[in-house]
Amino acid sequence: MQITFYGAAREVTGSMHLIASGSDRILLDCGLFQGRRREAAEKNRVLPFDPALLTNVVLSHAHTDHSGRIPVVTANGFNGRVLCTRATASACGYLLPDSASIQQSDADYLNYKSVRAALAHGGVLRTGANERSARLEAAKKILKKGRHELNVDTINRLAEELRIERVKPLYTMADAEQALGFFDGIPYRQPVTIGNGIRCTFYDAGHILGSAISISPSRRTGGLFAWASPATWAASTSRFSTTPPSPLPRRTAPWTS
Ligand SMILES: [Zn+2]
Repeated sequence: MQITFYGAAREVTGSMHLIASGSDRILLDCGLFQGRRREAAEKNRVLPFDPALLTNVVLSHAHTDHSGRIPVVTANGFNGRVLCTRATASACGYLLPDSASIQQSDADYLNYKSVRAALAHGGVLRTGANERSARLEAAKKILKKGRHELNVDTINRLAEELRIERVKPLYTMADAEQALGFFDGIPYRQPVTIGNGIRCTFYDAGHILGSAISISPSRRTGGLFAWASPATWAASTSRFSTTPPSPLPRRTAPWTS
């Protein structure tokens, strides 16, 4: 068994780890990198493996820094199951569409800035104003409906006319809805097959509702192998836990990312 750490290593977000065992390629979590808009967008777009080669995804909990890139995987050839607790599957039914809406808003805002800059710098506006700040204000009036609402139709039309390459959202609402069809909610403490000869059982981690520590029998050592994200593992001993964590089996070798 080989484990590769792709995220949440020396950083907090983007939790994603790949277990390779025989012909199985099991992804543990598939989270969004969060941070500066442009930098995070670039990191989130690139998957370091072909999603079509993944056999299953095991999800520790619904927070988007653990689940938010699942629609990227399911929209690009993934054909397995996303295994998690039932509560996590339910929560993702809200969080992933919400995340898609945020991706769209982020893309709209980046496009707004590009078109605004082109209008302000390119002499496109016939305002008679020579000052850059005046041209900028004139551009804002065209590209915004109100103080906080963008005129997305106008932004898209002008981007096309000015031949500005538009930023596309990381994934759409349709991608998020499609991703939910891959989810398989499993009750706590009920073993589930996640690979060839590999089973795991979810135990309450006491982080958010549905969070789980996944425990598998280890064929190599004969002991137990625990998979937990740092947040879920820390929460299992935290006084801020929403519920007391359920007792874990004995002889557990903890693994945290
Ligand atoms: Zn969390």
